[in-house]
Amino acid sequence: MQGRGVTVEERPIDRIENEADVLLSDRRRLPFAGLFTATRCVPASPLPAAMGCALDETPMGLQIRTDAAQETTVPGVFACGDAASLPHSVSLAVGSGAMTGIHIHRSLVWPER
Ligand SMILES: Cc1cc2nc3c(=O)[nH]c(=O)nc-3n(C[C@H](O)[C@H](O)[C@H](O)COP(=O)(O)OP(=O)(O)OC[C@H]3O[C@@H](n4cnc5c(N)ncnc54)[C@H](O)[C@@H]3O)c2cc1C
Repeated sequence: MQGRGVTVEERPIDRIENEADVLLSDRRRLPFAGLFTATRCVPASPLPAAMGCALDETPMGLQIRTDAAQETTVPGVFACGDAASLPHSVSLAVGSGAMTGIHIHRSLVWPER
């Protein structure tokens, strides 16, 4: 980040005014042309945690841990899409959903594999 001339500001943001004026907790005002925010995602349902699925903390938030076949740490329970993979994208979520369906089908037809 430093190599690219990016300043990392550690002070918490107090509020945002006008289009994109950032007011920090030390009362400094940083005016920008626009702002991008990084959202933190967590599973919408408490079900995975209640079932005992391991969750991992990632830079994008909590994620359900899965193996290469999209199976969680609870045998027979699968997870896909944003809840279980990064980066968050429609096409990746659709792809992982399709593959997870195939893995679930395989686990039912050939449970010993
Ligand atoms: C503001 C924003 C902009 C984005 N822009 C883009 C973009 O331009 N391009 C791109 O590729 N991706 C974009 N994304 C990311 C993309 O939306 C996600 O990666 C994608 O929707 C993930 O699909 P998903 O099916 O895993 O989860 P979701 O789309 O979140 O679907 C989960 C579904 O489960 C439902 N649900 C939750 N809890 C329960 C429950 N207990 N019982 C039953 N149903 C439940 C929810 O209502 C929801 O319908 C954006 C995301 C956001 C937030």
